[in-house]
Amino acid sequence: MKRGLIRFFRALIQVLKGKQLIKDEAKFKVVCLGAAFIHLIFCFLMHSVHADILYYYNICIVFLYIFMGTYLNSKEKYGLLMAMIYLEIEAHSALASFLLGFDCGFMLYTVALIPAAFYLSGIFSKKNRHTSINIAVILSMFVVMCYLVVSILTPKDAFYDLSRYGSFRVTMRYINIFIAFFLQISFSLVFALEAEYMSQFLAKENVKLSEEAGHDPLTGLWNRRSLTNAVNEAIGQMERIEVFSVVMMDIDDFKKVNDTYGHDTGDTVLVRLAEIIRDEVRAGDYSCRWGGEEFLLFAHGPRTEVQFVAERILDRLRNTEFRDSKDNIFKVTLTAGVAEYRYGAQLRNVIEAADKRLYYGKTHGKDRVVTST
Ligand code: GH3
Ligand code: MG
Ligand code: MG
Repeated sequence: MKRGLIRFFRALIQVLKGKQLIKDEAKFKVVCLGAAFIHLIFCFLMHSVHADILYYYNICIVFLYIFMGTYLNSKEKYGLLMAMIYLEIEAHSALASFLLGFDCGFMLYTVALIPAAFYLSGIFSKKNRHTSINIAVILSMFVVMCYLVVSILTPKDAFYDLSRYGSFRVTMRYINIFIAFFLQISFSLVFALEAEYMSQFLAKENVKLSEEAGHDPLTGLWNRRSLTNAVNEAIGQMERIEVFSVVMMDIDDFKKVNDTYGHDTGDTVLVRLAEIIRDEVRAGDYSCRWGGEEFLLFAHGPRTEVQFVAERILDRLRNTEFRDSKDNIFKVTLTAGVAEYRYGAQLRNVIEAADKRLYYGKTHGKDRVVTST
């Protein structure tokens, strides 16, 4: 029991953080056991005013909900569970209204059944996404109809005369108002949290798909994997006399840019740098976002020639003004390491050599292109 409660609260925190979806079984367990608990309170209340019909009704219903929340739930009879929950709530609200008076507010519970219909009917969307909406709309119409019928047919004088129990009627009304609105808010909140979870999930899936498609979603440049594949293919068809150079570039003090101007502004720097790189590379060259704020260029020509391409990229970035959301203007620099690739060499080793030169540049003042150490 204790472990179950701990698990329940842990899961609840994850749901509230929008990091987890609620499983169908957990949804119905909470609804059924919550309903059993509310009916248990009604048992005591009805007993205290000698409303015997409602007292016995509520005792039976407590057991019914426990049976529904455990046995039927474990058998995944969700359609049946939903039908039983709706019929029971309508039956109880109507019966209590007839016996105690409409103004006690029992029909208010049925209003909460409308957001609940849209929330719970999601279980049917696995079969057909229209089905769940149709079921929710039909259930909502059923709820409205029941409300109208009960409000029209409830006699003015309640079956039980509660006048000798002081303010019981008014207290009951406020309890019902409170619980009914609490349920409305709970269903709407969980619904919103699930929608938030789904939108985050879809955003992540989009990033994954676009990465799988070979491009970095932020800058639109190739990602490391697709560049390596393309370069390996190019190397396979390379002529003996051809020379390429690898340029490894890394933005200087980028962490400080993020810390000072915000991550979103940092992103705009990455996007702008990618544009500059795209502008500067020549046809037949390859460029990619190698990782976080590192970019790699695989360009035709010896390093003395490709060095100028790198210099131009550095120069253009150095002269670009960036602006954050508070209109602060700042500039960013870049360090690059260049290494030559000749026929038959290992691409991995050449990238490593470029990386070493980049590191050398980082430790010798940054904002420079290093072609030898
Ligand atoms: P150095 O001059 O030595 O390169 O210092 P640095 O601060 O640039 O290097 P460091 O590796 O310490 O920090 C890199 C930063 O790049 C940290 C990380 O938050 C940031 N970064 C990585 N990817 C992204 C991204 O997609 N967007 C933004 N805004 N920042 C990113
Ligand atoms: Mg880095
Ligand atoms: Mg850096």
